[in-house]
Amino acid sequence: STKITNIKPDMQRALPSRIMSLLTKAGQVAERLGYQVYAVGGLVRDVMLKVENLDVDLVVEGNGIEMAYELSKEIGGRVRPHEKFGTAEIVFPDGYWVDVVTARVEYYEYPAALPQVEQSTLRHDLYRRDFTINAMAVALNPNRFGELVDYFNGREDLEIGAIRVLHNLSFIEDPTRILRAVRFEQRYDMAIEPQTMRLIKEAVREKVLSRLSNERMWGELKSILDEADPEHMLDRLDELGVWDYLFPEITFWEVQYVISEMPQALMILRNWGWAEPAEKWLPYFLGILHLTNQETAYQICQRYNLGRRQTDKVLDTIANGRIALKRLSTEGDVPLSELTKIVQTLPREAYPLFLTLLEDKNAIRRFRMVMESVHKNKPVINGKDIRAMGYQPGPMYRRALDAVWRARLDGLVSTREEELEYIRAYLEQNNAPKIQPKQPKPAD
Ligand code: ATP
Repeated sequence: STKITNIKPDMQRALPSRIMSLLTKAGQVAERLGYQVYAVGGLVRDVMLKVENLDVDLVVEGNGIEMAYELSKEIGGRVRPHEKFGTAEIVFPDGYWVDVVTARVEYYEYPAALPQVEQSTLRHDLYRRDFTINAMAVALNPNRFGELVDYFNGREDLEIGAIRVLHNLSFIEDPTRILRAVRFEQRYDMAIEPQTMRLIKEAVREKVLSRLSNERMWGELKSILDEADPEHMLDRLDELGVWDYLFPEITFWEVQYVISEMPQALMILRNWGWAEPAEKWLPYFLGILHLTNQETAYQICQRYNLGRRQTDKVLDTIANGRIALKRLSTEGDVPLSELTKIVQTLPREAYPLFLTLLEDKNAIRRFRMVMESVHKNKPVINGKDIRAMGYQPGPMYRRALDAVWRARLDGLVSTREEELEYIRAYLEQNNAPKIQPKQPKPAD
């Protein structure tokens, strides 16, 4: 283990040049300050797997906050220091950020004292991490740039594909690591090695997961549902007895089919021009909750502290999904506008779920038609045109435009002129309020 491995060539291959340049500057700044600096964690792991990863986590043997300020002078961004922890983030206007932490050991001067933070070595910092594959570092100082620091044989575990904890109390210390183990195992097609697996089973048996806050549970669950292929992770969580802590109200096998079909549905929808939602996890979440009733779904959303908008999407799916399914599966001449109206009661994040639940070819064909019409048949006129006709802005605008949309779907209007004519008639029929002409000021 005296042989020094340099992974600079792998870094150059896996990382975009702006990240390479950032890492190089970090090394130069640290050198000037007399510190050693390292990139650690996921970035190192992914460089060695030749996978792109743009998350830069720096560990400094020295003053991390000072380092962050000096580095931001070179690379820009704003520093957000956390004095108490000796950590800082360098935040850029586009939302990108770099974490800078001070390598340290926490020790207690005397029993019950607050931990004193002492500047110390990289090794301690790495020892607190979850798995060997995540506990490697790469030196960035100019004379050592690219030197791999691997105290726990992470490299070998990467090569053999083993997820391995650093010590036996790891899952007791932090039960979220059980979910993380599953996530990395399935993401990289690796295997939780036998001793680590024994520790997971023991920890689950001792119910360590019941000590976990809902917030931390959700953090890891959401990371899983945001992954490219969560379905095998969820299988594995069920197999390990973790599912019952995540969704005690839901029997896994009842939703397993829908979850397993989700990747296929997502792919089909993308081909149909459906844009991937910003909240990638939501289609899966809807798949998990779709058989529950409103109250249960609401409780689960509350427990995981989902926002109002997201909760509404869950409840809308449960309230309207069954009717929508039925109408789409009904043979006969239901006008496209009618079907569209029904599908529009569902959030678009529910379309993948919906597609997995549609059984016959005709229903799927109808669903596709509706989807494409939702995308392509938007009216060309808009609120400005209504305004120009002298109507008061208000909820009527939306209703009138929806009416034009439906008319378009059913082929009643196709040109801009026809749309204008149609909406004029609609607004008159519905007594839409006109803008009042200004009253002349009474004379003094
Ligand atoms: P991803 O590719 O999902 O971002 P990552 O490894 O970068 O993977 P993060 O959650 O961003 O995952 O964590 C960054 C690093 O912090 C990890 O590589 C790991 O070393 C450490 N870490 C994160 N969470 C824990 C934890 N619960 N216990 C111990 N170490 C952790």
